[in-house]
Amino acid sequence: MHPRKVDQGTARAMNRRLILDELRRTGPLSRTRIAERTKLSPASITIVTGDLLAEGLLVEHPELARHLPRNPVPLGINYAGHRAIGMKLLDHEIQAVLTDLALNVVAHTRVELRSSSPEGVVEAAQRAKEQLTAAPGKTKLIGLGLGLAGLIDSEHGVCVASHRSGWQGVPLGPMLRARLAVPVWIDNDVNAFATAERLVGRARHATNFAVVTLGRGVGAALVLGGQLYRGPRGGAGELGHTLSERNGRLCECGMRGCLEAYVSSPNLVAHFNACYPEGPVTRVEDLADLAAHGDARAVVLLESAGERLGEGLADLANMFDPDLILVGGEGVVVGEVLLEAMRRAFVGRKLTKTVPVDLVVDIWGDDAWACGAAGLVVEHFFEGVAAPVDEPSRFLELEQ
Ligand SMILES: [Zn+2]
Repeated sequence: MHPRKVDQGTARAMNRRLILDELRRTGPLSRTRIAERTKLSPASITIVTGDLLAEGLLVEHPELARHLPRNPVPLGINYAGHRAIGMKLLDHEIQAVLTDLALNVVAHTRVELRSSSPEGVVEAAQRAKEQLTAAPGKTKLIGLGLGLAGLIDSEHGVCVASHRSGWQGVPLGPMLRARLAVPVWIDNDVNAFATAERLVGRARHATNFAVVTLGRGVGAALVLGGQLYRGPRGGAGELGHTLSERNGRLCECGMRGCLEAYVSSPNLVAHFNACYPEGPVTRVEDLADLAAHGDARAVVLLESAGERLGEGLADLANMFDPDLILVGGEGVVVGEVLLEAMRRAFVGRKLTKTVPVDLVVDIWGDDAWACGAAGLVVEHFFEGVAAPVDEPSRFLELEQ
């Protein structure tokens, strides 16, 4: 067998990714230390770091050099030098953020959807982008990421199917690109969040992990061997639609007994109200309050839901053996009664008791989903991958 020939451009792109990945994980390093850790030659390090410094993607940190005249100056990623837009599509609005490369929020906004059609979403996204980029500045906007529920062909920017919005085969990415004139990446919202966690979040040092989100639905994303596992059609990670109860409650997807039908925030509220119509609740936070004050009806409901969720997480762990499972989403406000039952059931159903899996509950801020979507942009930027639609320039000056 002949070794595959790698041309110079490809080799440089691979080296670039390797160096950025190392600096993202460890923080600023001298060129010598980068060479030691990446096993690249000093010549390659000089060429690639020179390119990255010229692009403004790396900066020198003289303040971190040891105070000896011949000590090398560490290089670090210039997180503040570029901006990304992240958007999360909700039922009636778009949440949007402008972030730096570390996904720190620089500005945020929410815009109402005047229509939930694809055209309505594009129009709302345009309003959100205009609001976020209104402030003067000289940083470079590298693109826009949008996360939404459903089956997404992220490679082509197409929403293949979303039972929530009733869309099928909607080329939302190209539509946004045509209207907003920025590079656009779209993905399933949970995949987008996992991408952000892998880049700059709690899973930065994990090679195998799962993100599970609670809220309007129950979602999951798997990162295996450092790569997001989407499945060949983008359908992986549908934990919410795994079976929790044979012939059980009807789920939004049309099947019966899905985990989501017992655990999602709207289903928890609806089920409580169906059982106890005399004292209806409107939000999952109300249920959490009742349970925290010892209301037996709320405690039983939340414990049962927590057990189902914990069993689902144990199935996930038994199949994929992740190092870490992050449980996040706005639905975690449901509180400790559910989460404690979840932890107990998880430990009880997990097959390999001796191998610890970190089960971490991640309390989210309001912008977490949108920040996750910005992670789609940052990921491709670090990897030097162009957006699905050809771009004459990868950058757009925010200068006004
Ligand atoms: Zn379902």
